[in-house]
Amino acid sequence: MPTFGITFEDRLLSRYDVEPSTGCWRWTGTIMTSGYGQIARHGRNVCAHRAMWEHHNGPIPEGLTIDHLCLDRRCVNPAHMEVVTYSENNYRRFQKRTPLRTA
Ligand SMILES: [Zn+2]
Repeated sequence: MPTFGITFEDRLLSRYDVEPSTGCWRWTGTIMTSGYGQIARHGRNVCAHRAMWEHHNGPIPEGLTIDHLCLDRRCVNPAHMEVVTYSENNYRRFQKRTPLRTA
């Protein structure tokens, strides 16, 4: 159902709280069972962090995915994300990692 006067960007940019201790932008909208934030765009549900990254950087190149450097799936701070290949992302999944903090 369309909400008149409120754009997708308005919704995207009003649904997170900044966590002062980590610099994470924690999504306050719907959270999927996978732990990622979710938002409806043009009638389709998409990942909130991907939508936020694209809002700042343009479309995610084909074949690439987003890695959360802060390891917080709810985070939608583009500075906490890196575009990587799927194989790199898989590789990192099994590494011991220290969460990025930019606070
Ligand atoms: Zn973060």
